[in-house]
Amino acid sequence: EQVITADETIAAISTPPGEGAISIVRLSGLTALEVANSVFKGRDLTEVASHTINYGHIIDPDNDETVDEVMVSVMRAPKTFTREDVIEINCHGGIVATNRILQLLLGQGARLAEPGEFTKRAFLNGRIDLTQAESVMDLIRAKTDRAMQVAVNQLDGNLNHLITNLRQEILEVLAQVEVNIDYPEYDTDEMTTQLLLEKAQVVKAAIAQLLQTAGQGKVLREGLATAIVGRPNVGKSSLLNHMLHEDKAIVTDVAGTTRDTLEEYVNVRGVPLKLIDTAGIHDTDDKVEKIGVERSRAAITQADLILLVLDQSRPLTQEDRDLLAATADKKRIVILNKQDLPAQLDQQELATLVDAKDVLTTSALTSEGMTALDERIAELFFGGIENSQTTVMVSNSRQIGLLRQAQHDLDGVIDGIQAGMPIDLVQIDMTSAWDNLGQITGDAAPDELITQLFSQFCLGK
Ligand code: GDP
Ligand code: ZN
Repeated sequence: EQVITADETIAAISTPPGEGAISIVRLSGLTALEVANSVFKGRDLTEVASHTINYGHIIDPDNDETVDEVMVSVMRAPKTFTREDVIEINCHGGIVATNRILQLLLGQGARLAEPGEFTKRAFLNGRIDLTQAESVMDLIRAKTDRAMQVAVNQLDGNLNHLITNLRQEILEVLAQVEVNIDYPEYDTDEMTTQLLLEKAQVVKAAIAQLLQTAGQGKVLREGLATAIVGRPNVGKSSLLNHMLHEDKAIVTDVAGTTRDTLEEYVNVRGVPLKLIDTAGIHDTDDKVEKIGVERSRAAITQADLILLVLDQSRPLTQEDRDLLAATADKKRIVILNKQDLPAQLDQQELATLVDAKDVLTTSALTSEGMTALDERIAELFFGGIENSQTTVMVSNSRQIGLLRQAQHDLDGVIDGIQAGMPIDLVQIDMTSAWDNLGQITGDAAPDELITQLFSQFCLGK
């Protein structure tokens, strides 16, 4: 395989902005070693063996001033992430020193990398396919270990393999069609039509299976919008605090379009719950209760999952009934809290309002039922998928869109054949399915799309 090396050497800070203990400045390109060497005091980086870490100092070549004490990783092409020469400078002088190092490198002829440019080079040099490039982005944004695992699986190329195999199947049958059109005298029309139909059905089924994972994949990627609702004093804050205090709270800086916004997630068995309107819940503690049913409605509408809290030490109120009705067609868990107190709630009435399987009993006071709650949430989202650690999942809306289009094309093939359409017309839809699948892996992706995709990455990746 030929490595296309872009002429320019690019540089960027590849660790998140902020005062982390260590920052990494990364360089990639033909002159990466020379550029780094020109500001490095230590061993000659152009002479050291590949894949070594070298201790030394970054100095300003203009005045010989020491800028930082560093460890420099030297990785020569082609066994690198970009397949170009790559340098990673591990510095620990904080953001000011890190920026200064970057500026020095730019002064020595490197160019500031565009967002995603390292990954784009890896793709263009054939090191990774598009699904893998997208998982790099997912890895950066992963909110739980489970989300990370799904991204890692894709990084291994699992989705790519699957899609490539499906395309191969389509290609074989298309070749058959070609033969048929070129040599009509053999009169194999009927056989070929049958083959087309079968293949279209097989590939369509495989895509359908993949699309079934889309819901879970999306949740892992974006978090599950969750609303905790219930009338005042039933224990919403207590339950929430319980969830937050078990070291499960994650605050994520979502990179990209929503840069600078902080969102709060709770990690429940690998499901990232993105809590809606939790500020509202906290608010009510000291002030007059403001969250009435009306206010809850907005949260209910936005939510993918409702945790509806009832106080089982009190009789059901009209407000409880209203909330039960408002959440009836939502994915929900009805939590009967304050289990430690004597029961007052009319179970028989409740049974007419909610499915028994959606009900769970807890005590925020004694922690009873809290583990069961976690398990229930995880079950709701991983239930349908066996061993989701290893399953290939699609989570990316671009990939999902292309799979749907391919499925639509295959419907065209199936319907066309059943309606007795000529084979060369049916062939067009089959080819389109092949194209759409190819765009998922990047085998048929137009340049513009590639540029747009990679620009979504964080700087330095
Ligand atoms: P919210 O208004 O729904 O957020 O309810 P809070 O979480 O603020 O709780 C209201 C009151 O009920 C507080 O005094 C809590 O300590 C108490 N509480 C919450 N959960 C339980 C529980 O499971 N058992 C008992 N006995 N008290 C609870
Ligand atoms: Zn409260």
